[in-house]
Amino acid sequence: MTRTLAVTNQKGGVGKTTTSVNLAASLAQTGQRVLLVDLDPQGNATMGSGIDKRSLTSSVYQVILGIATAGAARQKSESGGYDIIPANRELAGAEVEMVELDHRETRLKTALQGISSDYDFILLDCPPALNMLTINGLVAADAVMIPMQCEYYALEGLSDLVNTIKRVRQHLNPKLEIEGLLRTMFDPRNSLAQQVSAQLQSHFGTKVYTTVIPRNVRLAEAPSFGTPAVTLDRACKGSQAYLQLATEIIDRQTMAATNRAAGAVA
Ligand code: ATP
Ligand code: MG
Repeated sequence: MTRTLAVTNQKGGVGKTTTSVNLAASLAQTGQRVLLVDLDPQGNATMGSGIDKRSLTSSVYQVILGIATAGAARQKSESGGYDIIPANRELAGAEVEMVELDHRETRLKTALQGISSDYDFILLDCPPALNMLTINGLVAADAVMIPMQCEYYALEGLSDLVNTIKRVRQHLNPKLEIEGLLRTMFDPRNSLAQQVSAQLQSHFGTKVYTTVIPRNVRLAEAPSFGTPAVTLDRACKGSQAYLQLATEIIDRQTMAATNRAAGAVA
């Protein structure tokens, strides 16, 4: 079964794209079939996957507006080992153009239905806003992955995101769950980071991934080579953390499936 994860946090620069790209590559390296969808007009996930956002023939913009199919718009990321539906600035216009359209919250979900069975995982790299593109991501997803930096204002923004998830669940996507909270750019020597991390764990319990992504310069450098860090330098600490995260996610999924099966027998 395909698992679709929206990588979301309306706060900018918390590591959504770094996580999307490196998790996609890590899952691919463990043999999973992966599609990454760039839902951000900045096109950072596109560039970081080695696809030039300035020369796209079709992108997620055409897919959302129904001008291209998801199958036609997807490309192979050679450096990442996964498929990607790319994005560029054109996508910023979709927000306005969608106002006129019917079913505007469900357009991505509908578009992905035709190709989802080709994949084990679909990752949606959302923009830093709770806008219609993010709503499309939340409606298309089974679950939300929330990357966050452990700093003071992180928790404040989290309640807005959790409320949005609740509203989407009530009205548009009843099965939407929080898959997990991912601590990014973590510096264990920083006592505030330690405190916020402890608060997160007491509030969200096992929803906080055991895997922590450290601050690591290789993760920041890799996009300039058009490649995920896990391909560029598999041994660096940042890559090792994302590979561990992929294992943690697959293990969680296996455990959930086992529990469901046990429940069905009982
Ligand atoms: P936006 O909200 O603009 O889409 P984002 O949440 O997708 O941002 P990223 O683009 O992944 O965040 O990361 C922001 C910046 O921090 C980038 O320059 C990235 O290279 C850097 N970065 C991300 N994670 C790490 C890390 N673990 N260690 C060091 N630098 C990192
Ligand atoms: Mg981003």
